[in-house]
Amino acid sequence: MKQDVPVSCTCGKVKGVIRGLGAHNSNHVRCPCDGCQSYAQYLGRADDMLDERGFSNIFQIDPSTYEIHEGMEHVAGVRITRTGPIRWYADCCKTPLGNTLPRGGIAFLGVLPICTGHKGTDKAVVDMVGPVRAIANARTPQPIGARVKTFFMLMHLMRLMLLWRIRGGKSWKPFFDKETLRPLKKPVTLSDAEREAFEAKVIS
Ligand SMILES: [Zn+2]
Ligand SMILES: [Zn+2]
Repeated sequence: MKQDVPVSCTCGKVKGVIRGLGAHNSNHVRCPCDGCQSYAQYLGRADDMLDERGFSNIFQIDPSTYEIHEGMEHVAGVRITRTGPIRWYADCCKTPLGNTLPRGGIAFLGVLPICTGHKGTDKAVVDMVGPVRAIANARTPQPIGARVKTFFMLMHLMRLMLLWRIRGGKSWKPFFDKETLRPLKKPVTLSDAEREAFEAKVIS
């Protein structure tokens, strides 16, 4: 099933939509990595974004299906590390909006369910994007069953990214300039001291 899913920051200043979202054209994963956990600490929303083991739910989509209609002036980006993704959020109320590569061009956007009004483990999220396919960035060696799941999740994602590229060409929506593929807003990068303070709280 495909549906248009409204996107909103928690206070309602940033609004948009994800077009045609469904299980077949998204990749639902859970991630326990330092970056995702530090990001939740940075936003001050660990309770909303992380489960008790420090995992975030993320669904990856074609960025050309994600539109922001209102409140672009409140959108900001942060990089936890100099080489990591840009994590876009609504600065008005610290709501995560989507994670991208540092520049446009590659069709890949990771969305935390909170901007669709749901916590990661809500059944509504499974209804939108299907069950979790696998753990991304596992912290510990995984048993064979989990490794097989990860393999098939990666195959699914690669197939989707190829389709998205064929369909949409060079990706720039919604956070990059169409011509230069540079970020519309310059993201801040955490200092080493800031990052280490967040990493000290990481659940491993
Ligand atoms: Zn807001
Ligand atoms: Zn992560």
